[in-house]
Amino acid sequence: MGEAIFKQKCGMVAVNIVAACGVMTPDQMAGLARLAEDCGVFRFKMTSRQTLVAVLGEDKAGQLVGALPGLGLRLSPYGNVVRAVKACAGNSSLCPRSVGEALDLGIEIQDKYLGMETPKDFKIAVAGCARGCTDPYCADLGVVASGREVFDVAMGGFGGSARPLHGKIAARRIGREDVFLLIDNVLERFKALGQPGEKLGRTITRLGLEPFLLPDSIKEKEIKPPEDFANFLGIGKE
Ligand code: SF4
Repeated sequence: MGEAIFKQKCGMVAVNIVAACGVMTPDQMAGLARLAEDCGVFRFKMTSRQTLVAVLGEDKAGQLVGALPGLGLRLSPYGNVVRAVKACAGNSSLCPRSVGEALDLGIEIQDKYLGMETPKDFKIAVAGCARGCTDPYCADLGVVASGREVFDVAMGGFGGSARPLHGKIAARRIGREDVFLLIDNVLERFKALGQPGEKLGRTITRLGLEPFLLPDSIKEKEIKPPEDFANFLGIGKE
């Protein structure tokens, strides 16, 4: 497993910092600001994966990284591993459109799987409703809340490519525990069946979805999008 510290064109290094799916407390931010001053951080840059990059002199990178756990943060793993999880503000206290606890689930998924080795980098996105603000169908594994503790799961998406893939539905309206069983199964099967350097979506193109599914995880019934999202899409208004 690699560490996400990258040399920059200016000669400094970029240190990629992971929080709880992008959530930070004021105390964490204040502590990070003090640490940044001590280490002479030049700039912070928020990333598309809800992590935070600190650009600073290479000689100070070790000091910054060493202090991150004390702030409840960590250095991002890099390479062919499960990457930082993207989760939206889908939570009963936050986004009013959420239909389920996506943020809490995303944090729990990240805590359990971050850094686990895979044949190719493995990205997970969690969304609190069908709007999918975290692009769950572009991720290797996307989880979308379809009700209060029920979720749809897509697999094999690959957005960052000149040959993008859209994730395929692998399970509908499964419970929280089944989401973890499904992820355990996907990671185990991907390690066994994926070729080195092969994205999950390409493995699925080669072998089909079947090896990655839980028994009976695909429900036959058609799931309609929530009414407000259907209105947003203009479904039924032609
Ligand atoms: S995906 Fe839905 S719940 Fe999540 S931030 Fe977007 S609108 Fe809100």
